[in-house]
Amino acid sequence: MPASPSHDTRFDLLIRGARLLDPSQSLDRVADIGVTDGRIAAIGDLSAANADETIDASGTIASPGWIDLHAHVFSDGNINGLDADAKAGIATGVTTVVDAGSAGADSWQTFRQSVIEPSRTRVLAFLNISVDHRAKPLHGDWANFSQSKTIRLAEKEAAAGYCLGIKVLASQTHCGALGIMPVKLARQAARLSGTGLMVHIGNAPPVIDEVLDLLEEGDIVTHCWHGKYGGILGRDKKPLPALLAAAERGVKFDIGHGSASFAFETARHALDAGLPLHAISTDLHKGCVNGPVYSQGRTMAKFLHLGLSLPEIVRLSTHSPAQLIGWDDRIGSLAVGREADITLFRVVEGDFEFTDSEGAKERATRDLEVVATVRTGRVINAT
Ligand SMILES: [Zn+2]
Repeated sequence: MPASPSHDTRFDLLIRGARLLDPSQSLDRVADIGVTDGRIAAIGDLSAANADETIDASGTIASPGWIDLHAHVFSDGNINGLDADAKAGIATGVTTVVDAGSAGADSWQTFRQSVIEPSRTRVLAFLNISVDHRAKPLHGDWANFSQSKTIRLAEKEAAAGYCLGIKVLASQTHCGALGIMPVKLARQAARLSGTGLMVHIGNAPPVIDEVLDLLEEGDIVTHCWHGKYGGILGRDKKPLPALLAAAERGVKFDIGHGSASFAFETARHALDAGLPLHAISTDLHKGCVNGPVYSQGRTMAKFLHLGLSLPEIVRLSTHSPAQLIGWDDRIGSLAVGREADITLFRVVEGDFEFTDSEGAKERATRDLEVVATVRTGRVINAT
């Protein structure tokens, strides 16, 4: 049990009576949270007398602020990103948005100045391996790569605390005639900048076995359970040997739902096979925010529907993605001393229709409803 704070502990904010659900410390009980200077100062039975602001959160669940490991919050060329605060972040329960490659080296400064710095939502990002997003296909031309620019920028922006690594889209739509080469360039750029790698998988070419074979421990595969031909399952609906080998090497797997990249059917086969999953994320952009994805909360609810437990979907949206990006000492936990990123939500019962990216519709009985978000010690009500 955490030690009781001394009687003179002062809180900027006191959240009273919520069910605290924090898988990072196996916490699941009703208690109060005291916040001071934007950090979690105490957890327990706390006095409102010493708080500047108190909110009654009884009947709600308080989890570490949700982390959406794959979203788009910048618009450039082919990418139609969403407003980081109003559509993808704090208004929807997400305190940290990871932008998955909406900016390449040529547009990064604009992205940083117009989105990363001014947003109240914490915005971290993977830098696209292609420098210019107006190109179509994005990775289809040698002229759209500059290893020197990309590696230098990734290294500098990682040191600044914004860049997590390199993003590449390993699909025919984006690689065009260059096939596997953009994936090789991205792997090299990640290695030489000392940063991470996120790889989108989709339609071949490049063939998935070849993509997976290039990946190393800690690399993230996004759209892992898409429903297109040539995904992680063979004709027998069993995981490919290359997938099992990648998982064995420590490659990580992220949902990245999006308009084209998540299928209930693939998910059920993957869960039946016991495949590892490390993050539930949305791939939100303008083309899927009004369906089928909607939000991080709805995407999490789809995994409740598929049979995962509430603590597990919270873990896959907090502590686990924080570990993947190396931020687990700062976010993804309600431990005392951490940044006060908190999501207050409810599980609501009803009759809901959930749709995947293949257009499959299923009836579900539970959805998540975000009540409020706390970020930098301030309460933001959900819209
Ligand atoms: Zn995406």
